[in-house]
Amino acid sequence: MKSETVVIAIFSGPGTTLRVARALAEELRRLGKTVSLASMDRPERFAPPAHAAIGLAVPLACFSTYPTAWRFIDSLPEGEGREAFFLATMGGLALGMEGPIRRVLGRKRYVPIGAKIVSMPSNYANKEIPVEKNRKLAEIAAGAMKKYARDLVEGKGSWGGGGFLASFFARLAHTKMPWRTFYKIFPLAVDPEKCIGCGLCRDLCPEKNILLEDAKAKIGDHCQSCQRCVAFCPVNAIIVPGKPAERYCGIELEELRSLAE
Ligand code: SF4
Repeated sequence: MKSETVVIAIFSGPGTTLRVARALAEELRRLGKTVSLASMDRPERFAPPAHAAIGLAVPLACFSTYPTAWRFIDSLPEGEGREAFFLATMGGLALGMEGPIRRVLGRKRYVPIGAKIVSMPSNYANKEIPVEKNRKLAEIAAGAMKKYARDLVEGKGSWGGGGFLASFFARLAHTKMPWRTFYKIFPLAVDPEKCIGCGLCRDLCPEKNILLEDAKAKIGDHCQSCQRCVAFCPVNAIIVPGKPAERYCGIELEELRSLAE
């Protein structure tokens, strides 16, 4: 990596991707880089310093990534030769989803220097959180970030492909179909008995899809199932009806908030 300054733009639902991206940032700092973090929630606020390398950190969803993340990536300014790298977290299969990201960056004249996908705990419908398994996954991911940071700095990063299937799912992720289908399988509902009307879910929702009506949260019709509201509701009022699950949270709320500021 030639750039001395790095900005990592992050989309994170319940905080898992933010946690891994922070580990990568720490390691890059330890290796002498000046690193800052930015949120993908508000692309209009993204103003990286000239010549900074850009990192993109996203969770994998529907074999691609979420609409919020794609909106950010699609709206990136022209790279003009800046370096770019990619980090994704997944609970399932990736199918080469880094390929379509590389193609977008190439069209915008970024120089791709490395892509890494790591397994992290799944945040969907955990009847019981597998604490020990999750701890091991987080430990492995932290180790992977140490190596990834070194590879990036030493110019040894690689960027996997992703052929027809990856492109197909990337195109599909730009439509409403996969998100509506997913929402049909795991619909979210607010338990009005529990909701205290604090408005936190409304403020955190990256798609601005939650309103307060009569001091109760109400989920709108374009949920991308990123699970941020589920993870951070202080009274566990957002649930998948009929599928009792233990709440999963990848990071402290304040850390997520500080990213958005
Ligand atoms: Fe209700 Fe929870 Fe949303 Fe607060 S975060 S408004 S308690 S659903």
